[in-house]
Amino acid sequence: AEARYREIRGQPAETRDGAHVALHINAGLLSDMPNLHDVGAAGVGLYRTELQFLTRPTLPRRADQAALYGRVLDAARGAPVVFRTLDIGSDKVLPYMRRPLEENPALGWRAIRVGLDKPFALKMQAQALLRGAGARPLRVMFPFIAAESEFYAARDIVTETHARLQKLGYTVTDDLKVGAMLETPSLAYASDSFFSDVDFLSVGGNDLLQFFFAADRGNERVRRRYDTLSASYLGFLRAIIARADAAGTPISFCGEAAGRAEEAVALAAIGFRALSMRPASIGRVKFALRAVELQAARSIVDEAIAGGAAARPAIRAMLARAGAL
Ligand code: PEP
Ligand code: MG
Repeated sequence: AEARYREIRGQPAETRDGAHVALHINAGLLSDMPNLHDVGAAGVGLYRTELQFLTRPTLPRRADQAALYGRVLDAARGAPVVFRTLDIGSDKVLPYMRRPLEENPALGWRAIRVGLDKPFALKMQAQALLRGAGARPLRVMFPFIAAESEFYAARDIVTETHARLQKLGYTVTDDLKVGAMLETPSLAYASDSFFSDVDFLSVGGNDLLQFFFAADRGNERVRRRYDTLSASYLGFLRAIIARADAAGTPISFCGEAAGRAEEAVALAAIGFRALSMRPASIGRVKFALRAVELQAARSIVDEAIAGGAAARPAIRAMLARAGAL
């Protein structure tokens, strides 16, 4: 299997009927970056900046953060990198941060909620990102946006920092794009203007699935109980894509599901044209996409959604027929 993936390394991730899907990697360490070129991915769809914070005994200084972001961009050699601002709390706990004891940390003080309540840290990270990028394009994405006002408040911090650094004489990018992760069902119902105002969206399927079905992603008893390819969830995702498409806003999917062949084909079938996944999954997903007709996958998924049935058996059969399982 590995050999057949290597063979298509330089080929596009394109279905038999010509639909192109951009495949990106998820990363979080500088040592992840060579994978980008090794697997022939289009860019980094999710750079988890909290990894630098989680792997040290103390808070990294601004200069350390900026140095890392600069080196990540060096390693990307011009390929796009989407930096996600600190996503801590819930399952990601900083040893040196005092935090309240919470009964439901997944629903608690985490991610952008921490960033907005402690704007000092978010500002520092914005400065580090802008300084690390210098004149190069910069993509910044906020985790766990549940209300559109949170996006606007966080974006203001980044754009104000950008303006201030420029006024102080720093070389700053003229290509700054600011986006949001869609990880809570609430954001799917944000206003039309929100969908137009974000520069891009990325569906965080790990969290979105857990909140959609109210099933803890870390609880072995329930985490596999609800299928990513169930009709209700696929229908929900399809509606989100329709809203992004109507607004002309690029949308990608960056949860673990994107790295599995059946899921990737179904996600492409409902309209995702960008998927971000762990590097080791790129070959498998590209092979699967190249083996199928998007039109056929779309019929399967549309029928499943309409009939309330899981799309998995038919997608699986299609991939098996194509020799891509
Ligand atoms: C997600 O929730 O799908 C996601 C990509 O973010 P994380 O897994 O880091 O929460
Ligand atoms: Mg998440």
